[in-house]
Amino acid sequence: MAVVEIGVSEALDHAQERLDWFDTSTALAVAGRVVEEARAGVHPEPVLARALTIVAWAHRGQDEHPESMKAALEAIEIWQRIGDQAGEAIARCAAARVLVAVGQGDEAIAEADLALVTADGAGDRAARIKARTTLGAVCVHIAQYELCVEHCLRGLDLARGHADDLAVGALLDTMACGHIGLAEHARAAGDEETAQAELKRGSELSSEAMMMARKNGHRRYEAVAVANLGEAVALAGRPDEALELMETFYLDPVRDSRAVVTHHLDSRGCIYLELGRYDEAIAVFSEAIELAEGETAAMITHDHLAHAYEKAGDLRQALDHFKQWRGLFERIASEAAQRNASVAAVRFETAQLRRESRHDSLTGLPNRRALDELLAVWAGDRAVLLVDVDRFKQVNDTFSHLVGDEVLRRLGMLLGIACRASDTAARYGGEEFAVVLDQMEADGAMDAAERLRAAVETYDWGTVADGLAITISVGVAHAAKVPDVPALIALADRNLYCAKKSGRNRVCMH
Ligand code: GH3
Ligand code: MG
Ligand code: MG
Repeated sequence: MAVVEIGVSEALDHAQERLDWFDTSTALAVAGRVVEEARAGVHPEPVLARALTIVAWAHRGQDEHPESMKAALEAIEIWQRIGDQAGEAIARCAAARVLVAVGQGDEAIAEADLALVTADGAGDRAARIKARTTLGAVCVHIAQYELCVEHCLRGLDLARGHADDLAVGALLDTMACGHIGLAEHARAAGDEETAQAELKRGSELSSEAMMMARKNGHRRYEAVAVANLGEAVALAGRPDEALELMETFYLDPVRDSRAVVTHHLDSRGCIYLELGRYDEAIAVFSEAIELAEGETAAMITHDHLAHAYEKAGDLRQALDHFKQWRGLFERIASEAAQRNASVAAVRFETAQLRRESRHDSLTGLPNRRALDELLAVWAGDRAVLLVDVDRFKQVNDTFSHLVGDEVLRRLGMLLGIACRASDTAARYGGEEFAVVLDQMEADGAMDAAERLRAAVETYDWGTVADGLAITISVGVAHAAKVPDVPALIALADRNLYCAKKSGRNRVCMH
């Protein structure tokens, strides 16, 4: 069935819902299809941006970091172009999650902060919750537990007010991790009282998350909440109780993902270890390794298993698992470096494309698109000069197109030289240029235009071709005289026409 047949908006709603329930493959298949159709011109840009955002999150869920980053960056670019800050914020959150996953903690925080600023700017509740959740999760990864708790609290305020149970569940889980982290910090610093208080808070939050997930039938969140709760209770010095709690969650290999099953088995093993029940610990750790999907999960469990064998007195097995842990550790470290490099390459290429798409290759100046973006933010103390080469067709006809190109290049250079640091010269199109002068009075703009005109007229064009002479006509407009950007450009254009009509090689400002 083609996505278009059931309506693209419904298809994306469906993909988003699958994503919310961690069914990333379905989300990816549906949204990926919409992306292809949108690229073929079947759907408009906002649909492409939305589909790309889902694709970015789905790849992220499958640990496909470069693919996720690529989709996220493209989505961000489109959301920006169409001025949808809420969409931009959610795509930025995906980028932040990729960055933290490849070990770029600082960049992840910066990206997530930007997501929050953008979401706040949009005033969009869902985007603001997503940004807070993302910041919370990124902070856990980089061990900034206090910040994590703060972001989660703010997110919870927003999510609870709107009975957004999925978001509340995710925030509670993340916040519980934050408190468990704070407890470990406090314990390491010898402050047992604070450690216990933090563990209590972590347990309360995990219990709430567990109840909520049960109520909504959200098994994945329930599994995470139960594991967090078990961890907090065990750390608080009550491993028996923790084990009992963990065992209330019946692992189901059909409904539960392997990640969930192995995480739980590993957590249970750690509790058995603490209780001195080494054989049981060895049994569940071994089962976890059998099922482990990713190398990271296997690596952690080999380490735990080595400890369990050591405690049980089987040093030969302990050494064997220690070696396996070490082998995986080395491989994962080199793969992480590789992943990091691929994500960095995607980001670099995207930034380069962005630069290129806003530059004119002939003159090296910003192009029309960059100019439009600059003008989009209104400034009342701004002047615009529209510059058009006089009788340029004749230059091409008399001297050649190549000479014409060289003239445009040199004009670009002259314009660049004439500009102050705060001014922008751009190629408007063909043989027309525009100069934006910020913080400029009308008289000053007129003077600048006249200086530019004179500089072009007196330039030694003979260095380009024998007998060549070039002049320009300039239309000047000041923002103080008009209500908006289109009127500003129209006025400059009328004045340019006036300069042409009154004989060329002159400046006109009415
Ligand atoms: P006017 O004084 O009225 O502006 O006369 P004109 O000949 O400059 O105006 P017209 O708009 O008729 O011609 C503009 C010419 O600029 C036509 C086009 O071939 C040439 N042109 C536009 N872009 C380029 C370019 O990138 N390179 C070259 N060599 N020529 C270009
Ligand atoms: Mg022209
Ligand atoms: Mg011209």
